[in-house]
Amino acid sequence: MRKKIVAGNWKMNKTADEAQALLSEVINMVKDEVTGDVKVVLCTPSIYLASAQQQVTPGGKVSIGAQNCHEKASGAYTGEISAPMLQSIGIEYVILGHSERRQYFGETNAQLAEKVNITLQNGLIPIFCCGESRDLRENGDYIGFVKDQITESLFHLSAESFGNVVIAYEPIWAIGTGLTASSAQAQDMHFELRQHIAGQYGDTVAQDTTILYGGSANAQNAAELFARPDVDGGLIGGASLKAADFLTVVKAA
Ligand code: 13P
Repeated sequence: MRKKIVAGNWKMNKTADEAQALLSEVINMVKDEVTGDVKVVLCTPSIYLASAQQQVTPGGKVSIGAQNCHEKASGAYTGEISAPMLQSIGIEYVILGHSERRQYFGETNAQLAEKVNITLQNGLIPIFCCGESRDLRENGDYIGFVKDQITESLFHLSAESFGNVVIAYEPIWAIGTGLTASSAQAQDMHFELRQHIAGQYGDTVAQDTTILYGGSANAQNAAELFARPDVDGGLIGGASLKAADFLTVVKAA
């Protein structure tokens, strides 16, 4: 049985006080209100990771995740953080290859393959993001494009290692635009990706792979998205910045 996950990607938002307030609120609400078997991952800005990690219970419902890490273990890379650093403070998850990192920081599929490797080597779970642009969705082989992202960054892994990867399908045209993919569009892509994974690793691995949807998922549309058989939860941007909205999304999973 694959895991259901709802991850909040806070992106570059919240000052220290605001971050602390949101973190406390979410942790308490999850404790009091979430009964289902869903993992909640809060991907805070890196400056808050250490303090956030101290406020969650290892093995509990809420885990902390980073939004990125460097592909090397250490060295002269000013401003970067590494997978061993994250591991050393107990972080469990790392978002990799978010479309904003691909777009603004030039991350490539090959570089992401290295990032995936170093996170797995350090016992972290990568949340690997993939997704097509609006132009590709309207004019091109968008399914092939997303499959290629997965092939080029993940298919060098052994089946065992691949089993530790979470995939997040985030169509770029739906991110922060208020334009959600319909649940049918999400389901179609997730189904295609699961087939693609089955082709490489077999049915059992594919059925065990958690595939999240991201892109304007919110309190209003999460239940319909998560009701689809191949949608195993969400990677939530804007709606993760308000505790009540985020909790509604978590409960929908
Ligand atoms: P929004 O939910 O704000 O569209 O962002 C989605 C996202 O990029 C999560 O990683």
